[in-house]
Amino acid sequence: MPRTKSTLASQSGRIRENHRSIHSLLAPLESLSASSGSLFPAHLEFQDRKGISGSIPRFLFTGPGDRGSFLRVGIFAGVHGDEPSGVQAAVELLRRLHLDPRPALGYELFVYPVCNPWGYSHDTRLTKSGSDMNREFWRGSDEIEVLVLEGQLMKLAFDGIVSLHTDDTSPGLYGFVKGHQLTRHVLEPSLEAASRFLPRNFDKSIDNFQANAGIIEDGYSGILGAPPTQKPRPFEIVFETPSHADSALQVEAHVAAILTMLGNFRAMISEGQNI
Ligand SMILES: [Zn+2]
Repeated sequence: MPRTKSTLASQSGRIRENHRSIHSLLAPLESLSASSGSLFPAHLEFQDRKGISGSIPRFLFTGPGDRGSFLRVGIFAGVHGDEPSGVQAAVELLRRLHLDPRPALGYELFVYPVCNPWGYSHDTRLTKSGSDMNREFWRGSDEIEVLVLEGQLMKLAFDGIVSLHTDDTSPGLYGFVKGHQLTRHVLEPSLEAASRFLPRNFDKSIDNFQANAGIIEDGYSGILGAPPTQKPRPFEIVFETPSHADSALQVEAHVAAILTMLGNFRAMISEGQNI
């Protein structure tokens, strides 16, 4: 097949001319939600400063259990538009929970599979205006996607926040923990579960941060996270897969990690309350 301009562009790492379709990505979930009592699309419509309409996709999944004591967890993917495995994992997670909702027992999950729609469509890390969303949170940003998501983080005051990313410099899985002091005990078994699919990164230094068995207790400022004023602090985890690994295995690793987190958040929260 002759090489077209657009395939050359994508091979050289520049922005693709052929856009990725968010509509096609989410169509299976839209169709599952039509017959589900647990999965609901609830997309966030906005207008940017120039009056151009946009939307950030959002799905709500309510697990079985007593709604009065639900834990609320936000799962965020596609903050960087060129990291599709987290996006696919968010979709796959909802598809699997639709088939078997038991891992979501006692949870109200808010899933944002494509936080940076323009970046995802154009296969580029940045937003349309050229900024890295993940350095802009709680710093007075005027990026519309950041403002919309800050509104969600403020209004919903999540008990747990999970961000899915990929790293093109890491040979293995790792994650950042923030917020609640027991968060590393939620990440640890999640890394273990995900390592059935891809190796964990055991380097002492990852992404220029000190790391311990794939867990970093430091991190960049301005990343998507709870409002600085939120008390008590929620569990906050950034989970990273190696972007050079097989993409299907990255999706499996992300999904295994989230399902394990859901199994452990609750136990850790009740343990935390007893300390
Ligand atoms: Zn990223």
